[in-house]
Amino acid sequence: MATRNVLVINCGSSSLKFALISQAHPQPLLAGQAERLNSPETVLRWWRGDRIRRQRELPGADHRIALQALLPLVEEAGGDRLYGIGHRVVHGGEQFTQSTLIDAQTLAAIRATVPLAPLHNPANLLGIETAMQLFPDLPQVAVFDTAFHQSMPEHAYRYAIPERFYRDHGVRRYGFHGTSHRYVGQRAAEFSGLAVGDSCWLTAHLGNGCSTCAIVDGQSRDTSMGLTPLEGLAMGTRSGDVDPNLHGHLARVLGWSLTEIEHLLNSESGLLGLSGLSNDMRSLEQARSQGHRPATLAIEVFCYRLAKSLAAMSCALPRLDGVVFTGGIGENSALVRARSVAHLPLLGLALDEAANARCVGGATGAINAPGHPRLLVIPTNEEKQIAQDTLALLDAQPH
Ligand code: ADP
Repeated sequence: MATRNVLVINCGSSSLKFALISQAHPQPLLAGQAERLNSPETVLRWWRGDRIRRQRELPGADHRIALQALLPLVEEAGGDRLYGIGHRVVHGGEQFTQSTLIDAQTLAAIRATVPLAPLHNPANLLGIETAMQLFPDLPQVAVFDTAFHQSMPEHAYRYAIPERFYRDHGVRRYGFHGTSHRYVGQRAAEFSGLAVGDSCWLTAHLGNGCSTCAIVDGQSRDTSMGLTPLEGLAMGTRSGDVDPNLHGHLARVLGWSLTEIEHLLNSESGLLGLSGLSNDMRSLEQARSQGHRPATLAIEVFCYRLAKSLAAMSCALPRLDGVVFTGGIGENSALVRARSVAHLPLLGLALDEAANARCVGGATGAINAPGHPRLLVIPTNEEKQIAQDTLALLDAQPH
């Protein structure tokens, strides 16, 4: 069979990320993003296998113009073997338990989920509709951040509030980063010589957004994010869990509106809020090494909260085959891994410091001390997972 390529698209409100994934190459044939769409500063940046970065100004371009500008690049990079387009979609509600071929019904269901993800799903829909117009002959697939977590049991996904909010308004825990948790859970099993269908993992996706997940036999049983990606861990700019009464408190004491409070908790909190310096872990590690106290505290809070979440997730596991670190922080920060594992002696966890220091910059490896449960560093690859799902769905179609 000829090598097949899939174009993976991740549309945000003002950005469009893309990757051309080939079955035959471990690295994307082409990857990049259009940034600051609909502004005078719109720019398309991309790189091919040679990793040389190129860019083109596209002042005022919207999603459609950006995708159009992408077409010749895709063709040049191997688009003659383009078999399909895979779209990342943030919220699939309860409708989508797995990746799905896009047709009119799928589009309507994604649209019906907009109230649950008012910032993300409209942008995802825009990307899908534009790609369908530009590539009318190519099958398109939606891969949902929430779908993997639809296997959570009801006691894990329900909030302890009256049932009517769930029944009438879909208020429940959905979880996000599902594509990443699923991918690294599978890779952890492969790396360890275990069957995906008979293995139990705690996974920690630590990027700008952060979440943990309990995976049993290839299925998510619990995860730290909830109705929205704000629940759970402290993150780059998100507070993670706070006392829900904080909203009322700020409204009463400061007279703040809901919009102001949401902005505070989503965009000004987390590592940025605690450190007063940055949402970027690299900058905070550097500041910590120079004795910056708020940066040091931000890292300590981040790691303690991560450990607490992993301990909580362990309630969903019958046994522990290993803990997996992934995402920009999980893959690179030996400090964060060490500080969080140090809080978990009751799970029997212990680090091999030399292995921990070595596993950075995209390396896969085990970092646990001998005789202790596995601690694995596994780079995530959501684009590859989306491409694999796209091809699997195409293969399942009647020919
Ligand atoms: P996104 O969620 O946007 O995909 P990433 O997965 O790229 O984000 O993760 C971004 C985070 O990873 C940032 O906090 C960044 O500082 C952190 N990071 C990247 N490289 C390193 C490193 N070498 N050491 C510590 N943190 C790092």
